[in-house]
Amino acid sequence: MRTVYVNGEYLPETEARVSIFDRGFLMADGVYEVTSVLDGKLIDFDGHARRLERSLRALDMAMPVSEEELLAIHRELVARNGIDEGMVYLQVTRGAPGDRDFVFPDPDETPQTLVLFTQDKPGLADSPAAKKGIRIISIDDIRWGRRDIKTVQLLYPSMGKMMAKAAGVDDAWMVEDGLVTEGTSNNAYIVKGNRIITRGLSNDILHGITRAAVLRFAREAQMEVEERAFTIDEAKAADEAFITSASTFVMPVVEIDGVALGGGSPGKVAPRLREIYLEESRKAAI
Ligand code: PMP
Repeated sequence: MRTVYVNGEYLPETEARVSIFDRGFLMADGVYEVTSVLDGKLIDFDGHARRLERSLRALDMAMPVSEEELLAIHRELVARNGIDEGMVYLQVTRGAPGDRDFVFPDPDETPQTLVLFTQDKPGLADSPAAKKGIRIISIDDIRWGRRDIKTVQLLYPSMGKMMAKAAGVDDAWMVEDGLVTEGTSNNAYIVKGNRIITRGLSNDILHGITRAAVLRFAREAQMEVEERAFTIDEAKAADEAFITSASTFVMPVVEIDGVALGGGSPGKVAPRLREIYLEESRKAAI
């Protein structure tokens, strides 16, 4: 049985408890992070901790524990659960004021809820999907306007994955005002020749930690990077496409709305970036 962390305690998952008045449960008033684990070590922990702080600050919340303590909890859970490849999920909410009220509770009276748990995913890095590539559809982006904050309001992304499933494909890219924002749980890219194109950072997308690392590695490898929005038609006519996220790393996209890219198999750029990303991330893992 898994050992999880809840508000200072390590417990068997069946004994972990959060109040029914928790604002995460009642109002999606919480933020989260997912950090991947390779070789029993954390990938890009600092990036995830920094983004957590940024998400919390945007919602007028403080870090529930210091970054050092957060790292210690991550490591303890990885060790206690014997995770070699997988993820650590973290969620912070504004806590349980003991009643339902739209107004934020006084943080001095209502402690935040901090929950962490691991997900064991053997074979995460050596994924068959990464060799074949994934197929996606486009859907309307009807989410709220602060997608840069990593909140637990994941209903629409979840519906998007169900629309993809109903269409017999793997995932969906969201489109707003004719332009691709991002994937349901990942950032979106197209490749034209030696140039990688991805939407620039703004409130419209989550500032992916994997995105930042991949763009840095791409530039170091002398690839051209253009941060601008693109349409689905431009994506369908691209040489390659791919997604990035902490749990998929770099994943080639080989079909968009039924249109095959590069003859329906991964090209050169995305697999190369995946290789570089995995190699460099393993070296820097803590
Ligand atoms: N965009 C969205 C909407 C996401 O949910 C995620 C993953 N949580 C990402 C992008 C990728 O971010 P990261 O590389 O930090 O996992």
